[in-house]
Amino acid sequence: MKTPDAVAIHWFRQDLRLADNPALTAAARHGRVVPVVIEDPEADPAGAASAWWRGRSLAALDAALGGSLRVLRGDPAAVLAELAARHGASLVTWTRRYEPWATARDSAVKAALTAGGLAVQSENGALLWEPWEVLKPDGTPYRVFTPFYRRGCLGAAPPRRPLPVPRLDPVPRAPDEPGPAAAREAPWERKLARHWQIGEAAAGAALARFVGERLAGYAKGRDFPAPGQTSRLSPHLAHGEISPNAAWHAVAGAGPAEDVAAFRAELGWREFCAHQLFHFPDLPQAPLRTEFAAMPWRDDPDALAAWQRGQTGVPLVDAGMRELWQTGFMHNRVRMVVASFLTKNLMIDWRRGERWFADCLVDYSPASNAASWQWVAGSGADAAPYFRVFNPATQAAKFDPEGAYIRRFVPEIAQLPDRWLGAPWTAPDAVLRQAGLRLGRDYPRPIVDLAASRARALAAFHALESER
Ligand code: FAD
Repeated sequence: MKTPDAVAIHWFRQDLRLADNPALTAAARHGRVVPVVIEDPEADPAGAASAWWRGRSLAALDAALGGSLRVLRGDPAAVLAELAARHGASLVTWTRRYEPWATARDSAVKAALTAGGLAVQSENGALLWEPWEVLKPDGTPYRVFTPFYRRGCLGAAPPRRPLPVPRLDPVPRAPDEPGPAAAREAPWERKLARHWQIGEAAAGAALARFVGERLAGYAKGRDFPAPGQTSRLSPHLAHGEISPNAAWHAVAGAGPAEDVAAFRAELGWREFCAHQLFHFPDLPQAPLRTEFAAMPWRDDPDALAAWQRGQTGVPLVDAGMRELWQTGFMHNRVRMVVASFLTKNLMIDWRRGERWFADCLVDYSPASNAASWQWVAGSGADAAPYFRVFNPATQAAKFDPEGAYIRRFVPEIAQLPDRWLGAPWTAPDAVLRQAGLRLGRDYPRPIVDLAASRARALAAFHALESER
């Protein structure tokens, strides 16, 4: 029941939006709202690109809240208790998180606040289904995507319809309450900024553009990195600038059924990853298939550095790694190719790649990143079979047939005819001469032989299998 002087605190975390935010709506129904963000870097280490995005997103959220967002630091239980005492708040709300370290912290915060006499209300604003709602008939979590999605998700109640922006009466920020820090951006951050519009309004516009322009044809087009048929919603979803429910319902009846189903299935993959991290807390650190713990990963700092910088001499891999460096994003097909190259052709531990992505991706999500790396490496619960080694040259011919993607990010080989773009080392000398390209000078020779390195990876894998 709303009373005239009731006050609630809404603790914003990965839900940087006003619309379809059930916990914020609950706070607004209770009374005036004190909106707060608590920076807790020890509990929540963010990579550099993701932190940059978040900084801008907080500024957009603060503007949408009329400049009332507090950005405080410290132990959340202590900060929230102090804030509640200062503003006479009787309720604290937040959107649930599902990473094991966040759930542990949130339980402790809830216990401390309720012991101090405050009411606490958490709501699901991040997932279409709660992890404990989608279980096998025997009550255990699904380990394979298709039954998880088809039976578990589609067999459950349909996702909640999005809520409107609540009528909010935010408590103004006092002069001694800090708001978001003014952004002082490094050159690399300004470079990222050229590729993105950030914040809730931009997320809504991106979704509307996708539904209007790219949903039709998505099912077939989504695998081609150029011209880019996908929604590019992942950073907005990762920071909670838009809810998965909004995306799920926006496509209803808005395009051909196969495209709607394909897009929703990708949202289903996002759920699958989040549920896996909830049920298997070691996901970012340890292979889910325990035999992979004995994998003889190679320690090769030079190869790792060449991969990170997009200087492997394998154009699709280099294009992907440069897209990541320049834009903070990489197309999904190319993410699979570069991850396969690192873990199989270079035989470097998937955790090294996972960490690099965590630092460079604007859409970094601990769940999606770790689950996807384990999927590609073959060590996940549901994983590509280890013997599935993506061939970057064949993948380029199939998914970048006109070379638009490779030419954009690897301009030094742009003069090569399409046919040789994915594997310049196979081009006859005359073709290379005509393109004005000298391998080893203008562009590296491949740092590994694709066939020999594939065979080496398969031999290591078979050795693991036979020791089981
Ligand atoms: P769309 O095709 O438009 O899909 C719509 C939404 O569905 C996406 O925004 C995303 O939220 C979700 N989605 C799509 N594909 C996947 C997928 N395979 N797994 C999980 N969710 C998916 N995604 C992240 O959000 N954060 C990560 O840190 C991340 N790391 C990855 C690491 C590797 C090695 C790989 C192979 C994939 C990773 N992905 C990650 C998944 C996927 O590549 C991105 O979600 C996708 O490229 C985002 O582009 P989009 O928004 O245009 O996708």
